[in-house]
Formats: sequence, structure tokens, C-alpha cells
Amino acid sequence: MRRIDDLDVQGRRVLVRADLNVPLDGETITDDGRIRASVPTIQALAGRGARVIVCAHLGRPKGSPTPKFSLRPVAARLGELLGTEVAFATDVVGDSAVRTAQELQDGQVALLENLRFEPGEESKDDAARTAFAERLAGLAELYVGDGFGAVHRKHASVYDVPRLLPHAAGGLVLAEVEVLKKLTEDPARPYVVVLGGAKVSDKLGVISNLLAKVDRLLIGGGMAYTFLAAQGHEVGGSLLQADQLEQVRGFIDEAAKRGVELILPVDVLAATGFAPDAEHEVVPTTAIPADRQGLDIGPATRELFAGKLADARTVFWNGPMGVFEFEAFSGGTRAVAEALIGSDAFTVVGGGDSAAAVRQLGLPEAGFSHISTGGGASLEYLEGKTLPGLAALED
Ligand code: ADP
Ligand code: MG
Repeated sequence: MRRIDDLDVQGRRVLVRADLNVPLDGETITDDGRIRASVPTIQALAGRGARVIVCAHLGRPKGSPTPKFSLRPVAARLGELLGTEVAFATDVVGDSAVRTAQELQDGQVALLENLRFEPGEESKDDAARTAFAERLAGLAELYVGDGFGAVHRKHASVYDVPRLLPHAAGGLVLAEVEVLKKLTEDPARPYVVVLGGAKVSDKLGVISNLLAKVDRLLIGGGMAYTFLAAQGHEVGGSLLQADQLEQVRGFIDEAAKRGVELILPVDVLAATGFAPDAEHEVVPTTAIPADRQGLDIGPATRELFAGKLADARTVFWNGPMGVFEFEAFSGGTRAVAEALIGSDAFTVVGGGDSAAAVRQLGLPEAGFSHISTGGGASLEYLEGKTLPGLAALED
């Protein structure tokens, strides 16, 4: 993959596909991690005299302008982080975008409105996507792919535009790929993976692939209950995907066959309801009351997991151990995060909510070897899939 240093950008308009898909509460950005991760590439290009046109998506507006998904607040935050004004185009490829691109001076930065306001961006129809990609490419002379969180999408700005313009991979994409390569090609052992989060169905592909690679698999979060149920435990009102039981039983057998240590919670915080102040108690996973739901792993499990992480030399962690958004149920996620921070292993956190949890809990990001900005993208990479946005940057 070409790097931005391989492009002659001075005085030229460079379209940068970034991942600025941040959580918003109204117009307030509640976690600006992805914006901060996008800054170095934008800054490097602007510093070399490029006219930088940033494009990105936010949320799922489904192909038409939707005010609550406007990138305008992101332009303001990006400007603060860059220490310079960021011009904002109120459309994606319309009059405002064209004018904004034309008016940019060397070293200046602009942001286009949400790519997903245009139906062509996500269209499954190649012709529709190409038509939109041509308009987007028409705004610039060069393309830089740096939106790692979107590289698993076959979208116009990710997949089609780099085929229309001379291109390079941005620093963020290169850094992410380097880390994922380290996890897939000859990781230092023991290689331990910790999985959590809400749904086991989101992670079937990655579990299946990882079983062939890891030494230990620790399962917490909402998805643990489908594993516990597959082993015959009653899980009360906990998150359970009954339609995945068969598949999960297959994973349990596969782990045993391959000699992968599969570790499930031994206790949980069983709550009376899904609420921040829900009454709760610690119960063993063999005795979850029918009228309770597990919202976090319990203290014995935290210790068990920490022990299984202690001698690891490579760790990949995806998915919170509990409903960390509620303070009372954030302890399991904190315990796993702290075990990683205290470890000498090569530690990688993948997943939007996992990364947000680290920051929300006030834990030092520098305590991990790498925090990925792309949840879905890093999982698909680990599944062994070809990612369209990386393939497009290859040639
Ligand atoms: P990531 O974005 O890191 O890949 P996921 O999106 O898979 O993670 O899952 C994150 C969500 O899982 C969080 O919102 C968290 O509240 C939820 N979750 C974790 N444990 C539980 C649980 N026991 N019950 C319900 N939801 C849970
Ligand atoms: Mg998530």
C-alpha cells in the first residue's frame, strides 16, 4: 500500500475518507476518540500544503439529509483539535461541496456533510455507487483512505473512489493493519482472546476463526448467557439468543477438540431489571434466579479472567463484560481492562463500545498496545475476510 509520503500533495486537493462516526447526545459529542484518531493524517497532509477535503459518515441516515446526523458538530470539534478553522460543506457533492472545495487554499481543511445523506454511498447497485463516486472524486485530485472503521464496507467513498483517483493509505489505516497482522500471523503465545458485548450472533464469524488460532477464549458480557444456556444452565431473564444455541454448542465442541481453553463466567451480578439502579446480587452461574438478569460478571469471574490473562503474551479484547454504561455494572469491564493494562502482553482492544468503555471508565488509553477505532472492521479482518476498503488501496 502506498503511504501519504508517496503522494505529491502540495497545492493539490486531497479527498480524505475518515471515520468520524462518533456518539452524539443531541449536538454534543460524547466520545471524540475517532476524531482524534483522524487528526494525524489530516494534519500531515495540511502541513505539506495539501488542500484537504475530509469526507465521513455519521449514524444511519439511510440516503437522505437528516439534521440529527449532520456532521456540523464534528467539523467544529475537528477544527478545535487541529487548531485551525475547518470549512463545512452543507452537502456532499452539491453546490456547497463544489464551492468549498474550490475555495480551499493550500494547507486548509474542509469537511463535507454526511456521506450517507446520498443514496449512492451505500447503494448495492454498482452503477448508482459509481455515479456518486465519480462526483465525489471530481472534488479532488488525490484520495487518501484513512477511515479504518469503514474499510469493511463496499461503499462508494471507501471502495469506488480509490479506483478513480491516485491514492494512498492514511497513517491510521496502516497502523491498524499492522496490528491486526500481528494478531493473525504468528502471535506470541499464550494468545488469549476476551469476547463480550451484547449479541453472540454479531461475533459468530470471529469466534469460529479464532478457535483455530487462540490458546484461550474468555467469554463474558451478554453473549456469555447463550454459552451458559448451551451448557444447560438456567439464565433467567438474561440476554439469550436461543436461535444460536446449536451453533454455540458447536463452538464448545470445537474448542474441546482443538484444545482451546474456553472460559465462561462462574458468577454474575443478577439484577431485578435493566436499569442503572436495579437491585442486584452476586450469584453463581449455576443458580441464576428465574426473575433476574445478569448484567455483569461477578467478582469470582473477574479474578478467574485476570488469572487467565496473567501469563498471556498476546491479548485481543472485544466487547464489554457487562452493561458498563451503568456504573453499578461496569466493574467486570473495568477488571478486564485493568488486567490488560497491567499485562506485559501485546494488548489490543477492538470494538466501538469496548474502546468507549475504556475512556468512560477513565482508564489510560496508553495502557494498551493498541485501541482499534474499527469494531466491525477489525472483527472482519480477524475473521479472515477481504476488506473492500483495504483491497481498493492495495493496487
Ligand atoms: P463492541 O462495540 O465493543 O464490539 P458490542 O457492540 O458487541 O461491543 O456490545 C456492547 C454492548 O453490550 C454494550 O452496550 C453493553 O451494555 C452490552 N452488554 C454487555 N453485557 C451485557 C449484558 N450482560 N446484558 C446486556 N447487555 C450487555
Ligand atoms: Mg458496539
